[in-house]
Amino acid sequence: MTISPADLQQQLDTLRLAYLERLQQDLPLLLQLAQALPDTPADSWQHQATELATKLHTLAGSAGTFGFARLGENAKLAEQQLKQWLDTDAKPDADSYSSFIATITRLTRLDETDTAAAVSDAAIAPEPAAAIIYLCCADKALQEQISVMLDIFGYANRQFADFNALRAAIVLQRPAVVIADADQPDALAQLKIIQSEQATILPLLLVGANTDFNSYLNAVRIGAIGYYSRPLNTTELEAGVRKQLSVAEREPFRVMLVDDDQMLAQHYALVLQQGGLMVEILPQPAHIFDALNRFHPDVILLDVNMPFCTGPELAQLVRLQQSWLGVPIIYLSSETDSEQQLAALIKAGDDFITKPISDTALLVAVFARAQRARQLAEIMTRDSLTGLLQHAHIKERLVLEMLRAGRSAQPVSVVMLDIDHFKKVNDNYGHLVGDQVIASLANLLKQQLRKTDLVGRYGGEEFLLVLPDCTLQRAFEVIEQIRELFAGLPFIANEQRFFCSFSAGISAITGCNNADVVIEKADQALYKAKTSGRNRVTLAPSAL
Ligand code: GH3
Ligand code: MG
Ligand code: MG
Repeated sequence: MTISPADLQQQLDTLRLAYLERLQQDLPLLLQLAQALPDTPADSWQHQATELATKLHTLAGSAGTFGFARLGENAKLAEQQLKQWLDTDAKPDADSYSSFIATITRLTRLDETDTAAAVSDAAIAPEPAAAIIYLCCADKALQEQISVMLDIFGYANRQFADFNALRAAIVLQRPAVVIADADQPDALAQLKIIQSEQATILPLLLVGANTDFNSYLNAVRIGAIGYYSRPLNTTELEAGVRKQLSVAEREPFRVMLVDDDQMLAQHYALVLQQGGLMVEILPQPAHIFDALNRFHPDVILLDVNMPFCTGPELAQLVRLQQSWLGVPIIYLSSETDSEQQLAALIKAGDDFITKPISDTALLVAVFARAQRARQLAEIMTRDSLTGLLQHAHIKERLVLEMLRAGRSAQPVSVVMLDIDHFKKVNDNYGHLVGDQVIASLANLLKQQLRKTDLVGRYGGEEFLLVLPDCTLQRAFEVIEQIRELFAGLPFIANEQRFFCSFSAGISAITGCNNADVVIEKADQALYKAKTSGRNRVTLAPSAL
C-alpha cells in the first residue's frame, strides 16, 4: 500500500495535534512535581528529582520533533540543572529552586509562536519515473544497433530522429533514461536546453566518437551519467541502462523503529515514509526476533532510554545472532546523554542520531545509512561481474524456497544453464569479450525473469535459477523464450559480429526435500541438452 504525500502530511498534522493534547495533560503534572520538590523530605528527594529529570529528558527529545522547539530547549535546560544537582549531591538553595521552577513554569505555558508553527519540513518523495527509454540518434546504423539491444532486453523505448521531437516527447512523458548520439549536430547545446527545462536532472547516456578530456567534461556538464565510445559496446550500454533503472526501481529501504514513545515513533515513521522508506514500528521489544525475520530491515533505529529494556540491551540481544550482524543499529539518543554513556552504547551499536532532530535531517541520516548497508550486503553476497547471487548464496536461497514451497505446496522450478562452446569465445575473442558475454546473459536473465525469481552465478559460465510459483511447463516456456532472445543477440569484437547460445536443464522440486538432489536432476537434464546438440532446453525425466 502506498500513501500519498498529502495523506502523510495530514497524518503528521493529526499526530502533532494529538501530541499537543498530551502536552496539555502532562505539563501541569510536571509543574506540580517541580513545585513539590523544595518540600520533599531528604530521603525521597533523590527519587523525586530523578523522576522529574526523566520526564524532562523525554520532553526535550520529543518536543522539537513536533514543532515545539522552545519548549524542548527549556526542558533541556531544566533537565541539565536537575542533573547537576543530582550528580553533585548538592541540595539547591531557595534562589536556585525559584529560577528552576520559573523555567518549568515558562515551558508549561506553551509559547504562542511555538504552537503556531505547525510546519513539517519533511522532504516529499519525488514521483517515480516511468521506465521508458528515449533514444535520439541521427546515425541510422548506430540507432539500429542500440534499438536491437533495447528490444532484445525488453526495454520499452521510443526513438527520435532529432532533438525537437525528443524535447516535445519529454514534456508529455518523462523517460527513465535518455540515450543520445553526442556526435549529431548541436547535440550538447540542445541537450543542455532540455536539461535546463527539467525539475530534476534527466539521466543521460551519451554515445560519442571522442574520448578526450573535454568531451567527457562537456558530457558531465550537461548531466551525463555515462559516456560510451564508438565502436559501441552494447553490453556496456545495456549495463548503464540497467544500473539506472534499478536505481529507480530499487526496493524501498526498510527501517525498523523501536521507541517506547509511540507518538514520537509514529512521527518518525511518517517522516521516513514520506521520503519513500518502509518503516515498521516495534511496539514490544520482546517480539524483535519475529519482527526481524518477517521484515528484514536494512537499518534498526533504537531509542536509548526505554522502560522495558534499554536500547543498548536490545542491540546486544540482536548481535547475539549471527544472521543479523550485518544490519546497522542506530541509536536515537538525546544530546544530554553523557559521553561515558555514549561510549558504552557504541559497543553494541553502530551510530547515533541526536534527538531532537529535524525531519529532513532524520530522513537524510537514515537514508544514507540504509543505502550504505544495502550496498555492503550486496557486495558480500553478489558476484562482481554479473551482480548475481554467488554460488553459496543461490544454494542457500534454494533451500529457503524449498522450505517455503513445502508449507504452501507451490510448484518451484530449478534451472541449470550453461553457455555453449564458451571456450571458443575466449579463444577467438579473448577473455574480456568472454566476460562481456557472461554479463550480457546475466542481464538478460534479470531483465526477462520476474522480480521474485532468483538468479545465481553457479560457476564460470553456469547459472542456477530458482523460479518460485512456477510449474515445469511454464519454466520451459520462459527459458525457451530467453534462449531464443540470447541466440539472436549480436556481439561485436574485433569488428566481427558473432552469436552465442546456451543450453538448459530444468527440474521441479516436487516431492523432494534435498536441494542437492534437485540441482543434480537439473544438471543431468542440462547434460542431455548438451549431448543432443546444444542451444536447447530439456526437462528432467522424473518430472515429465
Ligand atoms: P559446453 O558447450 O560443453 O559447455 O562447452 P564450453 O566450452 O562452454 O565448456 P567448458 O566448461 O569446457 O568451458 C568453459 C570455459 O569458460 C572454460 C573457462 O576458461 C571459461 N570461463 C569460466 N569462467 C569464466 C569467466 O569468468 N570469464 C571468462 N571469460 N571465461 C570463463
Ligand atoms: Mg559451457
Ligand atoms: Mg561449463
